[in-house]
This record gives sequence, C-alpha cells and structure tokens, in this order.
Amino acid sequence: MSADAKVPLLKASAIHKSYGDLSVLRGVDLKVTRGECLCIVGPSGSGKSTLLRCINLLEPIESGRILFEGDDIAGAPKSRAPAVRQRIGMVFQNFELFQHLSARDNVALAPVKVKGMSRTQALERAQMLLEKVHLPDKGDAFPDELSGGQQQRVAIARALAMEPALMLYDEPTSALDPETVGEVLQVMQELAEEGRTSIVVTHEMGFARRAADRVMFMDGGLFVHEAPPADFFSPDATVPERLARFLGRLS
Ligand code: ADP
Ligand code: MG
Repeated sequence: MSADAKVPLLKASAIHKSYGDLSVLRGVDLKVTRGECLCIVGPSGSGKSTLLRCINLLEPIESGRILFEGDDIAGAPKSRAPAVRQRIGMVFQNFELFQHLSARDNVALAPVKVKGMSRTQALERAQMLLEKVHLPDKGDAFPDELSGGQQQRVAIARALAMEPALMLYDEPTSALDPETVGEVLQVMQELAEEGRTSIVVTHEMGFARRAADRVMFMDGGLFVHEAPPADFFSPDATVPERLARFLGRLS
C-alpha cells in the first residue's frame, strides 16, 4: 500500500456551519477512505445537504477542517475552490442538466471548458460514459426528451467526465418516478463496486444495505450513529432511540 493510500481521501473534523441564528452543522466529524461507499441517512432538515455543500466548497464553514487528499481545502484561498471542485463530482436531486445541450454535450462540456480537452476526444469519452450509465443510444437526446431516471444517469456521466476522486450524491432518486429509481441506483451500485469513492445521501435503505460499506445517521447537525449496513439495519442492534424511530417510520 502506498503512503497515499493510507491518508483518508476525506477527513472533516469539528465542522460548524450556521445560517444566521440557525446552527445547522454542530461539530461534524467524517472520514472517508479511498474506494469506500458511505451512505448518509437522516431526517429532513438534519443538515445532510449542507454537509455535502460544505465538502464541495459551495458553502463556507465557520470552523473546523476539511482535509481532501491531505490538503486543507476549507482553509485554502477561495481561488483554489474550482480546482477542488474538479476533483469532487456532485449529483443533485434535480439533475441540473443544461437544457439546451444534448446528453452527449452535457457530458463533454466541462472536459473541454475546464480541462482544455479537444472536442473530438471529449465527445468520444462522453459516448463511453453514456454507455457506462447504460444510455448508449441517448447521446443526441435533449434533457426534456429523457425520463427523470435517464436524466439523472446523464448527470452521473457528466460528473464522471471530470474523473473525480470523490462522488457526492444528494438524494439522487428523490425526485424520480418510482419506476426509474432502480436504474439509477443500479448505476450507482456498479460505480461503487468498481471502487469509486462516494458519499450518498439517500432515503433508499435497500441501496444503503446493498451498496454501502458504512452507514451514518445524521440528526440535528451531528452524526449520532454509524455502522456497517448489516449492523445498522439489524433489528436487534443497540441504536439511539432517534434512529430506531427513524428506521421504524420507514418500514
Ligand atoms: P437535509 O439535507 O438534511 O434535509 P439541509 O442541509 O438542507 O438538511 O438543511 C438543514 C437546515 O438548514 C434546515 O433547517 C434548512 O431549512 C436550513 N437551510 C439549508 N440551506 C439554507 C440556506 N441557504 N439558508 C438558510 N437556511 C438554510
Ligand atoms: Mg437535503
């Protein structure tokens, strides 16, 4: 194992974040190792999206440290944020594809604009990535010609195009029709099995059970429990009362 592999890919410590008087993250610690799929679950409003946005430097933190690949990214000058964001792919609940671009162009755009890749090469890679998310024939389709599940898979391909070291998914299937949820989760699971490091905020407990290496429960701006999925979902595990209620509500 190289020295590099021993450094956690991401290590956040004592993250505090408020909006005005509202304290949203209250001393969050989080470590992600390379190759790991970490699922974060928890009630609405507990701070899950805020945490992902802080990791991706879309929101500034008030205190704490975020080390990514060993670098203190939250403490670095703002001018370095775009370089960090290239290394961290993000998939949102509402896809946020560019509506005026075809699926293939959505995927090829950032490699051309940000990495200076030739358009020919970027389009070739985009086709390869669309095949990876099981959309080999949809390159010419525009977002409004695709189902929600297909759009979300294009969004995943677009994030992968930058070859990120870490993928963040924020409830990627919450806005989808039930019949297209499975195809998106399938792609995410395949990527996790390939060893792509990911943090997945989700309410899909079946996915967490199948794909996660570790599940963490957030409540009130703190992680209050974590375990491998087999233990996390075990009915006889000793868990905080708040988590028992959360899981009970879902079943
Ligand atoms: P979750 O993703 O777990 O549902 P969020 O991180 O979205 O939780 O939100 C946590 C809390 O922060 C909620 O009370 C939410 O209303 C509040 N919040 C989130 N974003 C903002 C914002 N930009 N401005 C003010 N309050 C916000
Ligand atoms: Mg959220």
